[in-house]
Amino acid sequence: MDTSTRINRLPRVLIVDDDMALRLLTREALADLSVQVLEASDGEEAVEAFRNQPADLVLLDVQMPRMDGFTACHQILGLPGGHHTTIVMVTGLDDHDSIRHAYELGVTDFITKPINWTLLPERIRFLLRTRETLQALRESEAKLNEAQRIASLGHWEWNLEDDTLFWSEEIYRIYGLEPGKFQPSNTKFLALVHPGDRQMIQASINHLIGSDKPYSVDHRIVRPWGEVRIVNQQGEVQRDTSGKPVRMVGTTHDITEREKAEQRIHSLAHYDSLTDLPNRHLFRELANQALASAQRRGRILALLYLDIDRFSRINETMGHHTGDLLLQHIAKRLTHCVRNSDMVTHSTLDNIEPYTLARLGADEFLVLLTCLESPDSASVIAQRLLDDLSQPITVNQDEYILTASIGIALYPNDCSDLDTLFQFADTSLHHIKQTGGNGFHFYSSSVDKRSHRRLSLEGHLHRALEREEFELHFQPQTNIQDGRLLGVEALLRWHHPEEGLLPPVDFIPLAEETGLIVPIGEWVIHTACRQIAAWQQEGHDPAPVAINISARQFTEASLAQTISSALSDNKLLADRLELELTESMIMQCAEATREKLSIFHESGLRIAVDDFGTGYSSMSYLKRFPLDTLKIDHSFIRDLCSDSTDTAIVRAIIALGQALGLTVLAEGVETVAQRDVLKQLGCEFIQGFLISRPVTADRIYPFQIQ
Ligand code: C2E
Ligand code: MG
Ligand code: MG
Repeated sequence: MDTSTRINRLPRVLIVDDDMALRLLTREALADLSVQVLEASDGEEAVEAFRNQPADLVLLDVQMPRMDGFTACHQILGLPGGHHTTIVMVTGLDDHDSIRHAYELGVTDFITKPINWTLLPERIRFLLRTRETLQALRESEAKLNEAQRIASLGHWEWNLEDDTLFWSEEIYRIYGLEPGKFQPSNTKFLALVHPGDRQMIQASINHLIGSDKPYSVDHRIVRPWGEVRIVNQQGEVQRDTSGKPVRMVGTTHDITEREKAEQRIHSLAHYDSLTDLPNRHLFRELANQALASAQRRGRILALLYLDIDRFSRINETMGHHTGDLLLQHIAKRLTHCVRNSDMVTHSTLDNIEPYTLARLGADEFLVLLTCLESPDSASVIAQRLLDDLSQPITVNQDEYILTASIGIALYPNDCSDLDTLFQFADTSLHHIKQTGGNGFHFYSSSVDKRSHRRLSLEGHLHRALEREEFELHFQPQTNIQDGRLLGVEALLRWHHPEEGLLPPVDFIPLAEETGLIVPIGEWVIHTACRQIAAWQQEGHDPAPVAINISARQFTEASLAQTISSALSDNKLLADRLELELTESMIMQCAEATREKLSIFHESGLRIAVDDFGTGYSSMSYLKRFPLDTLKIDHSFIRDLCSDSTDTAIVRAIIALGQALGLTVLAEGVETVAQRDVLKQLGCEFIQGFLISRPVTADRIYPFQIQ
């Protein structure tokens, strides 16, 4: 029954008695009460009457024909709306068994015959009022339950003395349990708490019992089917008059959805929704922590500001959807690359991540490296990022090849605060963009001048091949007697985009260190061969070209293959090439070198020892190698006319070479005087500024005899 029906209609009283006179008298007695009176003459009729019109109070005779009062009572209580009906048994019986039986059935009260007609209306009035109060109580309990259900909030009460626990309906729902089938206790409650939180909860309870402060904790629970929820528990202790804790009461609030929403809000506020990488805000937070830690521990930080080259063009031509997919791929690549970089894997103190990657927006990304050994490591990682990004990316069956630019600033080398670091990395990015992108650039004061130059050179060197910045110059080698051409030496030049033409001494050592000498060396071999073929096509009969081979290149297994394909691509015989190896190279790993040289030599290639005289090789040693030419190092030639020791050395080298049947050539011949001395000493061939500086290919032929 709801409140409105309670207010709007009179209470119904159903009088059930087979004695019509008694029914009449009862009706009379109740005439002054504001009630609606209904009648039935036996049990069956009463059940039927109740079914048609549920009554609030039933005055039920016990002994009746067809169906007695007990059976009728049982049936009425089972009818819809019958559960809370007030049933008053009217009986002449006063035996205890009947009374107990009636109470067990759910009867509210008894009136014994003969009925006191004066008291009856008062009794009925009282019962109706009680009923109304009970009803109101039930309703407010139902409302409370409803409110708790809506709020996912339940209340509990734990009796500390007998460890009994009461849970409101909603708590069962929160734990995923059925009220009738689960008897709660503190032990059972703890079993429902997520194992990871159990200790904390136990500690909170112990603390609460010991103190008077109410507690509030959030923890996880596990529902019977494994679902994890998050709840907030609030509770307080109740004590007896002696101060002994007797009870704990509190509430349990399911805050899973709220937590999820909070996490979502946090994630929206801190992560980039396209790539799931931290956004600018979170990056700032993390970077500030990393900076503080670096300050404490005296470490270097590098901020890499990365921007994809010409990304807006992709967005414009392929649409934003493709652009977004590409950015997701890029984010994955960057993450993978930084994560797998050995430079950033060591764990750090202070719980600072070795790196942080973020997306700033559009095609801009930030990488903060916090575990650097030296600024060099930042350049290695920057280069790896560029290399990884330059691998094709497939989106919707289309392949995209992207390049990127990276500006780098270092803490503490450049500055000591995050904003300036940002700004400097940005400036450096701008700089690399202006020089065409696809590379990295350090903020100029990042490192001392030398290593800065090295880093920046390295960045450029990586791209020099694809940007076709290399060129070969050629220097003639001639017969000292008649000036006829013996061969030409190919000498590498680099047109640096900022620094102009660079000689090999400025970049060959770096190329060797970084391994770039291998692809560069391949380029030299192919270009030299193409040049010979071009000279042939121009109608010349080109002399052999000497190519300088560096130590790193020589150990590379692919060298033989590179040479033979360069020769065959240009339809050249092997004797058109001479390989120059320095004396010190030949002396290292003598046996392996000898074998390799023999294979080259047998294939028809000529072999020269470059910079001879600086490595003090013995004649017996040299004899074991398949050589064709000895090139006397120019340091002996420089002072040839004034230094008698040099004269003696050069004379000995010439004698040695001739004894071994080798062509002897003097390098660095600048003056006529030097040439004359060499002629005197019996040297057959010379190379040097006296004859010609290294020149471009178009200036070699037709060769003019000096
Ligand atoms: P190198 O093989 O001893 O080459 C001779 C060097 O002496 C060249 O310097 C040449 O320009 C220089 N030179 C020639 N005549 C004179 C002269 O009369 N006076 C003086 N003072 N110098 C003269 P460059 O071109 O600077 O090359 C230096 C070195 O770089 C070369 O020494 C060679 O070791 C290396 N190099 C050059 N090109 C390549 C290359 O393609 N690959 C490798 N691995 N190394 C190369
Ligand atoms: Mg040389
Ligand atoms: Mg030399």
